[in-house]
Amino acid sequence: MWLHYKTILPKWPYGFMMKPFNIWRLAVRLANKTALITGGNSGIGLATAKRFVAEGAKVAITGRNLERLEAAARELGPQALALAVDATDIAATEAAIAKAADRFGKLDIVFANAGIPGQTPVGSASLEIFEQVIRTNLTSVFFTVQAALPHLNDGASIILNGSVISVLGNPGYSAYAASKAGVTAMARVLVSELSPRGIRVNVVAPGAIRTPIWGAAIATPEAEKMFEARIGATTPLGHIGEPENIANTVLFLASDEASHITGQQLFVDGGSTSSPAGAPIFRGQAPRQ
Ligand code: NDP
Repeated sequence: MWLHYKTILPKWPYGFMMKPFNIWRLAVRLANKTALITGGNSGIGLATAKRFVAEGAKVAITGRNLERLEAAARELGPQALALAVDATDIAATEAAIAKAADRFGKLDIVFANAGIPGQTPVGSASLEIFEQVIRTNLTSVFFTVQAALPHLNDGASIILNGSVISVLGNPGYSAYAASKAGVTAMARVLVSELSPRGIRVNVVAPGAIRTPIWGAAIATPEAEKMFEARIGATTPLGHIGEPENIANTVLFLASDEASHITGQQLFVDGGSTSSPAGAPIFRGQAPRQ
C-alpha cells in the first residue's frame, strides 16, 4: 500500500524543508519579466520600480527631472534603465520605449503612472493648465500604450494609474477628475482591443498617498501634519496611504497571480470611496496618529 507523504513525514520537518522553496517562489514573482514605468523617478512610480526590481524584473523608468532620474537609477541598480523623456512628447516616448526594448527585450508590463495635479476651479481656470492636465494624465497615457504595443509580449499586463478623484467631485479638480475618469473609460476600450493578444489592462485608483505630488499642501512640517490629519479624518482606515500600498497592488496586477483579471479598477484608498460614512469625521473619533 502507498503511503501519502503527509502520513510518513512528521509535520514539522516537512514544513521546515519546504520553507526555503516557498521563500524562493515568493522572491521571483516577476522573474524574467521586463517592465516600463512612466514617472518612475518619484513617489508611486519609484516605489513600484523598487518592488519590481526586488521581485526580479528588469525595469525601465521615465521622467523629466534628470537629477531625480539619476538618483532613482542609482537606487535601483543594474536591473534598471532610466530614460529622460517627457510623456507628452509622443515621438520621444516612442524612441524611449524602443530603447528600453532594445536593452531588455520585449516588455511584459507597462505601468502608465506619470501624472500631474493642477487646479482648475470653475470661474478662474486657465486653458493652459486644463489642457496640460488632460494632455499629461490622459492623452499621454493612451500614446504610451500605443507606443509600447509593438514591443509588448502577448499576455502582457498594462496598469493605468487612475484616482479616487475620478468619482469624488472634489472642488477645483475638473480637469484632473476628467483625466482620471477618462483613464478608466479608456481602459475598458483597451481591454476589448487588446484581449485577442491576451494583454490585460487594469486601473489602480489610489486615494491620498504620501508623495511629493501634494506640493504646497505638505510644504512645511506643520502643513503636512494638518494635511495628513484631514486625510485621516476622512478615510475609514484613518490614515494616509503609502506609495508601497500602490506598488504592492500594481505588483499583483502585473504578476501571473492576476492572469484572469482584466478590465478592473482597484481602489486603494483606505475605504474612502466605498464607505465614506465609516471615516472618523463621521464617527466622532480622532484619526489614528
Ligand atoms: P509624484 O509627483 O511623486 O510623481 C509623479 C511622476 O510623474 C514623477 O515621476 C514625474 O517625473 C512624472 N511626470 C509628471 N509629468 C510627466 C511628464 N510630462 N513626462 C514624464 N513624466 C512625468 O506623484 P505620485 O507618485 O503621487 O503620482 C503618480 C501618479 O499617481 C499620478 O498619475 C497621480 O495622478 C496618481 N495619483 C496620486 C495620488 C496621491 O495621492 N499621491 C492619488 C491618486 C492618484 P518628472 O517630474 O521628473 O517628469
